[in-house]
Amino acid sequence: MRILVFSDIHSNLSAFEAVLSAAGNVDAYWCLGDIVGYGPDANECIARIRELPNLVCVRGNHDAATLGEVDQQTFNHEASLAITWTKRNLKTEGIEYLLTLPEKLVINDITIVHGSPHNPVWDYVMDYMTASRMFQFYDTRICLVGHTHVPAIWKESESVPPKGPVIDFHKTKILTKTILNPGSVGQPRDHDPRASYAIFDPDESTWELRRTIYDIESVQSRIKKSGLPWRHAMRLAEGW
Ligand code: ZN
Repeated sequence: MRILVFSDIHSNLSAFEAVLSAAGNVDAYWCLGDIVGYGPDANECIARIRELPNLVCVRGNHDAATLGEVDQQTFNHEASLAITWTKRNLKTEGIEYLLTLPEKLVINDITIVHGSPHNPVWDYVMDYMTASRMFQFYDTRICLVGHTHVPAIWKESESVPPKGPVIDFHKTKILTKTILNPGSVGQPRDHDPRASYAIFDPDESTWELRRTIYDIESVQSRIKKSGLPWRHAMRLAEGW
């Protein structure tokens, strides 16, 4: 079974389409939240994700903020401007769809959240110190997280704790309790501007991180046209 695991599309339809096409045939689509925010294609990304067969999706902090469930003051100024823009431009069916997203899902041996198993919408699992505290908060073997926009693999059994995120582009076999992050589709922050995603096979317990190029300039021009902060366009070209 091949599952496309992806996160943090952030209203970037060009990156999202590139990932869907690069992933090829898959049996299911698992989205780890933040469909909207930052980018200009909020309605288009929601319409596209809803077409996907065998889709599961959880709610991210930008999705929750768009629904007015989170205080916008907790976001930086430019992120907050994009949330205001999204609230203003998102169609009713988009809002209704975001409302259907749960904060957490458990499928067989896998927990699915946006942030962390402790605080599904808000916590960041950025380093091994944090990850090591998180293993106690879920009962399954695997926990899938997004939110940091940086791909990572954190294993509970790590004898030498890694200093930074473990990124392995080989097909990794998941043998122990592990937290996995596929990186971000629409706004990667690991200085690699290519859209990030993973192919997960729960039967074989394998995880394969992948990257794909997409037309960054077309998103940048839509950001400009929409009046969203230009900083959101700049960062796409460099992946920060
Ligand atoms: Zn995000």
